[in-house]
Amino acid sequence: MRILITGGAGFIGSAVIRHLIRETEHEVINLDALTYAGNLASVAEASNSARYRFIHVDIRDAAALERTFADSSPDAVMHLAAESHVDRSIAGPQAFVETNIDGTFNLLEASRRHWEALPAERRARFRFHHISTDEVYGSLGAEGLFTEDSPYQPNSPYSASKAASDHLVRAWHHTYGLPVVTSNCSNNYGPYQFPEKLIPLMILNAVDWKPLPVYGRGENVRDWLYVEDHARALRMILERGALGETYNVGGLNERNNLEVVQTVCGILDRLMPDPRSPREQLIRFVTDRPGHDQRYAIDATKIRRELGWEPHESFETGLEKTVQWYLDNPEWVESVRTGAYREWMERQYGVG
Ligand code: NAD
Repeated sequence: MRILITGGAGFIGSAVIRHLIRETEHEVINLDALTYAGNLASVAEASNSARYRFIHVDIRDAAALERTFADSSPDAVMHLAAESHVDRSIAGPQAFVETNIDGTFNLLEASRRHWEALPAERRARFRFHHISTDEVYGSLGAEGLFTEDSPYQPNSPYSASKAASDHLVRAWHHTYGLPVVTSNCSNNYGPYQFPEKLIPLMILNAVDWKPLPVYGRGENVRDWLYVEDHARALRMILERGALGETYNVGGLNERNNLEVVQTVCGILDRLMPDPRSPREQLIRFVTDRPGHDQRYAIDATKIRRELGWEPHESFETGLEKTVQWYLDNPEWVESVRTGAYREWMERQYGVG
């Protein structure tokens, strides 16, 4: 298959590309606008392959998307390009509406026109895989899990924009027959994640003995999934998922934010012993995010039962691998710590 992957220079998209080039014979076209979150260094290992190509296109540009489909004629689309950071969506929601909603609309329209014009045999095999988040389901209390049938109750500008994109994808299937499959996943962590997100932010600050800002009392609960387990799930869904269906993907690794930060500190104290340890003393509780969802947790029974997917990493093994990766890759870290990023961190948390 020739797969057009949007957002392939980002955290999850780059893991999908590395997985597909390493483990399959598929051809990959990486379409990315290279925003602050996109970094081609994350796909350096794939770029030596004759089956990999990068194109610099913004999904807000409908004409450029039409040209891309005409030039590359993909057999499948995996749509990951998005504005993805909740805090940024609170500070500046417009980009989230433009990329996550308008951009998805442009991509659906370009995909539909391409699919309708394909010869019958290729048309029958074509699929559009939309990658989304469990945040569209809103917030849970202490009990219960999100299933594929949970009602949509997005609370942040980010999750609302992703919910809107999920609905557009669903409508393009029901109205135009576009062969789509959607997946909604819990919080990912792992190598190559931009250090504005909780885990890499805590790792890098704790390495430098900088304060570790934790929202509220650190009691918000998330289900954590190692990014390479997600990449394998996405490949299975693309290749074998039933059209028109949704699959929830999650790691059954619920932790509250304080536990996550304490675990990161413990791993670093062990890997980088220091007379100033323990690093937990760096934790600083900061004013909570407005409208902060209390708990997300995923019931991943459907993907386990129908596609035989299982996560390989426990939270502890995955987190140790992740910490080690950030210690081993200071050049990558430097390459994403631009002036613009430092300014954002300064404004958001008072730490650069
Ligand atoms: P990311 O922010 O790391 O990467 C997003 C990528 O999209 C970047 O390479 C960026 O350059 C690109 N992009 C942004 N706007 C674009 C535009 N207008 N045109 C083309 N490219 C553009 O995000 P991520 O964490 O890798 O998430 C990927 C997808 O998975 C997103 O759709 C997100 O909603 C979803 N998701 C993420 C998580 C998570 O924990 N990170 C969990 C579930 C679902």
